[in-house]
Formats: sequence, C-alpha cells, structure tokens
Amino acid sequence: MTTSIDRSAVQAADNVWTMAQQQLDDVAAVVGLSDGIHGFLREPKRVLEVSIPTHMDDGSHRNFKGFRVQHNVSRGPSKGGVRYHPDVTLDEVKALAMWMTWKCAVVNIPFGGAKGGVICDPKSMSMQELENMTRRFTTEISIVIGPEKDIPAPDVYTTPQIMAWIMDTFSMQHGYSIPGVVTGKPISLGGSLGRDKATARGCLFVVDEAMQALGEPIDGARVAIQGFGNAGMYAAELMSERGYTIVAVSDSRGGIANDKGLDVRRVVAHKEETGSVVGFGGADAVTNKELLEYDCDVLVPAALEKVITRENASRIQAKIVAEAANGPTLPEADAILHERGIMVLPDILANAGGVTVSYFEWVQNLQETSWEENEVQDRLHRKMTRAFNETYAQAKRLKVDMRMGAYVVGVNRVAEATKLRGFYP
Ligand code: NAD
Repeated sequence: MTTSIDRSAVQAADNVWTMAQQQLDDVAAVVGLSDGIHGFLREPKRVLEVSIPTHMDDGSHRNFKGFRVQHNVSRGPSKGGVRYHPDVTLDEVKALAMWMTWKCAVVNIPFGGAKGGVICDPKSMSMQELENMTRRFTTEISIVIGPEKDIPAPDVYTTPQIMAWIMDTFSMQHGYSIPGVVTGKPISLGGSLGRDKATARGCLFVVDEAMQALGEPIDGARVAIQGFGNAGMYAAELMSERGYTIVAVSDSRGGIANDKGLDVRRVVAHKEETGSVVGFGGADAVTNKELLEYDCDVLVPAALEKVITRENASRIQAKIVAEAANGPTLPEADAILHERGIMVLPDILANAGGVTVSYFEWVQNLQETSWEENEVQDRLHRKMTRAFNETYAQAKRLKVDMRMGAYVVGVNRVAEATKLRGFYP
C-alpha cells in the first residue's frame, strides 16, 4: 500500500507535464483565471502521434515514434522546436508545448505554443538515416504544420540541416518553396542572421538586466554553464566576450572547471576536435552534479530538464540561475532557491531569445526580405529587456519570484486573447 502511494507521489513530482500543469494552476490562483479559461489552457489544443518507418543504411526498416503537440493558438500560429532524443515522451512534448505558449506571450510575439519530438538516438544514426527519418516525420506532421498554422524549429539534437530537410519536404509536397514553414534554417535558405546565437544572446541580455537590478558588477562575475550545445556554448562565448568569467562548463560526458576562468575559444576548439569539453587541458574535471553546485555568481543550466532538485537546491551557490534550458528546476527546488534569495530567471523568459529571432526569421520569410544582423540584435535586445522589466515589475508588485512574475505576464496575455475571441461555436 505504502509503496504504491510513494511511487505515484514520486512520479507526479518527476513528471514534467504534471509540473507544467501545476505551474499554471499556481498562476491561475494568483491572477484569478475563470474555471473555463483555466481548464482550456490546462490541456493541449491538439496532439498528433505518428509512426515513422525509416530506411536504415543496412537495408532494414526501423519504426520510430514521433509527436507534434499544439498547446494553444489564441494569439497566432503555434511555434515550437522539434527534439530528437531517446528519452522523448509525449508528456515531455506536451509540457514543452505549453511552455512555448507562455514564452511567446512573455516576449509578446504573435504566436501560440507547440512542440515536436522523435524518440531516437541521433548520435547513433548516419546523416542518411537522419534525413530519411526527418523527411518521413515531416510528411506525417504535414497535416498540421504550415507558415500560417504551426512552425517548427530546432531543439535538442536538431540542427539547421534538419530544418532544411523539413523545409524541402514540405515544399516538395506543395510544389513550390515555402521557407516560412520552419525556422532555424541555414542562412542560404532564408534563415535569419543571428538565429544561431539568439537563445544565448537573449539569455545574456536578461542576465545583464538581472545583474543591474541586483546591483552586481558584470565584469569578472563568475559563470557556470551546464550543457555545451547551441544554448550553452554560445552563452559561454557571448558572456565571456561581455566580461563575465566562465569558470565551469559541461556536456553529456562531464564537465571542466578553472577558478581563474576558462579560455572559451579554446574550449570550443577542443569540443570541435574531440566531441566533448572533457579532457580540456588546464582545467579540473567536474561531474555535471558538481557543476551545478560550483562556486559562481550565475548558473546557466543549458542542457536538459529536472536537474535542480529538492536535493541540490540548498547547495547551489549562484546569485542568479538563468534557465537557458527548458524546465531545469523542479517546483520544490524553486521554492528553496526563492527562500534563499537566489533569483531564478525562468526558462520562459531566459531562453525566449531563440523563439524571438525565429519570429523575426518568419517575418523576413513572409516579407521576402532579410535584415542585417545588427537590426536583429537591436530588436532582440528591445524584446528581451522589455520582457525582463515587465516580469520584474510583476514579481515586485505581487511579491513573488520571477517565474511567477513571468507566468503572470504570459498567462494574462493568453487569457485575454482567449476571452476576446470567445469559445467557438
Ligand atoms: P543541443 O543539442 O545543441 O545541446 C545540448 C547540450 O546538452 C549538449 O552539449 C549535450 O552534450 C548536453 N547534454 C545532454 N545531456 C546532458 C546531461 N545529461 N548532462 C549535461 N549535459 C548534457 O541543444 P540546445 O539547443 O542547446 O538545447 C539545450 C536546452 O536549451 C534544451 O532544454 C532546449 O529545450 C533549450 N532551448 C534551446 C533553444 C535553441 O534555440 N536551441 C531555445 C530555447 C530553449
């Protein structure tokens, strides 16, 4: 009896979809959402599960499973990345889709939220196998995507090349080129300048604002970053250029640390050469667990979700946690960090730079034009600083943490749009 109760309690705490719904329930109580709108926002609008038979290099066929979830389209077409990972679950994709809805609303771009995922191990697949799988996945979800409907983008282990295959497959099916169906494309196919570093740059902009709000100097502030992919590696580069000292970084194989600061350019070169940051000369080895608790001013989780838990939250030393990753902090850990006076810049704010420049890419595609990189960066800076200030103002007004502040901003916008549109019929 006790065992079954314990297990369900653990599952509930450990399930990102339950966590996402719980976060909405908490904000619904704060902003006074009506039961009708709360109930509507608590579930995805549309869930598609697809089977992806794929030609493998050895002549066999493998059947992968994929998902596309559209959480909400009240404020515009839905938008969200596609994740390729062995641990992808429908619940995870649903949670990520819901977070996209709030994220687009926090930075006030006219999109709803969606997410996709395929259960696969891209690291063990050849380029040809990845292409075959991507093209069939695109075909399967083509009934729900499109520039006016739902626009995919990159996420964990999906790349500009994969976006190019999505764009080509969708275009072939329609008989003409439709670049606006997907963002995060290579520049030569209508990708936006600045999209590659947008998530990291947006994260940097909000960390800068937070440092200013806390009266902390930027020069020499110590930063630890978990994850060294699109979000983490560029965050390390941009933050070090800005004057922060990067003291620790990691990837799936482990981490490295140097109290005097890592030479980020050399770490990037080492990662390119060897496939990992591990083994970089002139640094100590640390585990991913140790990295989170490393002595630093700013901690940037930029890998997977659920890494900051009730167990390690009391040992985190940073003054600011900037969630470049989606969902890295469990709710019970959030409460501990808030109590300890650590400012958590929530994922729906801290990593919203990616979707913001994705929106810019989509606008450029629809207008058949392209902007200079400095124009992209200036517009991103305006969006991110405004989102930070609106979130900070709500957090102060309601005396809540920054996550709740961001949720209040985002959920209020979505609720207002939903109310104005009404429920059809
Ligand atoms: P990526 O595939 O480019 O990089 C992921 C990195 O995490 C890699 O360095 C990998 O080695 C590392 N990693 C994987 N498992 C790990 C583990 N168990 N411990 C430590 N490191 C591990 O992915 P990304 O695009 O950088 O995405 C990272 C996070 O940022 C995800 O949560 C994603 O949803 C979020 N995010 C990304 C974007 C974007 O534009 N790329 C936008 C918003 C949010």
